[in-house]
Amino acid sequence: MSSDRVVVIGGGPGGLAAARAVSDVGTKVLLVEEREQLGGTPIIENYAGLTPRGEPARPQIQKMIDAVSDNPLADVRVGTKVKSLVGDEGAFTLTLEGPGSQGPETLECAAVIIATGFGHFDPGRSTQMYGYYEFPDVITQADLEAMLSEGKVVRPSNGAVPERICFVQCVGSRDRQIGNEYCSKVCCGVASKEAVELRETLPDSKVFIFYIDMRMYGYWENEIYWPAQELHHVQYVKGLITEVLPKGDRLLVRGEDTTMGRPMELLMDLVVLSVGMEPSPGTREMASLLGVKQNKYGFIDAIGSPLDPVGTDRKGIFACGAALGPADLEDTVSSGASAATRAVACVRALSAGAAS
Ligand SMILES: Cc1cc2nc3c(=O)[nH]c(=O)nc-3n(C[C@H](O)[C@H](O)[C@H](O)COP(=O)(O)OP(=O)(O)OC[C@H]3O[C@@H](n4cnc5c(N)ncnc54)[C@H](O)[C@@H]3O)c2cc1C
Ligand code: SF4
Repeated sequence: MSSDRVVVIGGGPGGLAAARAVSDVGTKVLLVEEREQLGGTPIIENYAGLTPRGEPARPQIQKMIDAVSDNPLADVRVGTKVKSLVGDEGAFTLTLEGPGSQGPETLECAAVIIATGFGHFDPGRSTQMYGYYEFPDVITQADLEAMLSEGKVVRPSNGAVPERICFVQCVGSRDRQIGNEYCSKVCCGVASKEAVELRETLPDSKVFIFYIDMRMYGYWENEIYWPAQELHHVQYVKGLITEVLPKGDRLLVRGEDTTMGRPMELLMDLVVLSVGMEPSPGTREMASLLGVKQNKYGFIDAIGSPLDPVGTDRKGIFACGAALGPADLEDTVSSGASAATRAVACVRALSAGAAS
């Protein structure tokens, strides 16, 4: 039996963009989110301002949520998981398990879009020498987002306002030792964005970014990186940080200034780790449950990329956003719309076939 419905798994920016695009063109969509709320990582982690204009994340993402929730063709299920999938393109049968005790629900769909997103690299993993779990004043970019969004940036150790803050780039990315050779794409831009937010919130602070090389593209370069240096006086230091140690009530950041070719040691009040993106547990789980190929890092493999960046090796199943690999919102939303087009085409081709 064929179906005229698309199922989107994951209610973050990618899944919301996909679900919106499917319903906007008049096709039924079911959006399945395992958490109790929609919005994905920007909402779960309480992001502050979104690039490029620094607009508060929550109302921006809420607009995406409303666009889906308000569409009568969209059925949204939170607190729900896909438990099984059988069948082929045009005639999949899915089992869902949701809240309450009614037991599993079975339904048909023509195509599936996986939008299960990313997780943060755990900076406590063995090769990391930055003391994330030892020193309260070592935090991650996501921890800082939450502080910025609350409008209260303090040293967790003593509640004091930090005067010297640094970012350590490429934590858990571009690191062969741990098997993550890839670049996480957004953390150079996000560090620059957060550095600007810090300078605006704490104008007396000194903010440093220690980087291997700054990797940015599109608007991130001209609208964030250059103003961060020239207007907000963020100090970019090309260098490798090898360890963070306590010294008095501050942190000693030790490494090498690679431009000058000499060791460096600086005292900081707050150290922000720019941790990389990894596939979320849900991405790994759905890839294996739905039987689609993953790349060696566990992200879903878009086998036709770059000319087909959303198709998987199973017909009728597409993927978008950070489930495919590190991606910013612009890339995530574009790939969501692209996956929606492919999924709707799949529904229409099959209904046209049935009518002829
Ligand atoms: C600190 C930080 C700041 C950032 N700031 C910016 C910024 O300012 N601008 C920008 O462009 N980008 C920014 N990004 C990148 C941005 O967060 C991502 O581009 C975006 O979140 C990717 O969206 P997504 O929907 O693909 O994944 P996610 O946001 O991770 O959403 C995935 C969703 O899928 C759900 N899910 C997972 N598994 C399952 C399952 N099995 N069943 C059902 N649901 C499931 C999750 O609960 C979640 O809701 C930032 C990233 C970081 C780390
Ligand atoms: S975006 Fe920057 S910090 Fe992130 S992995 Fe790439 S080079 Fe490193």
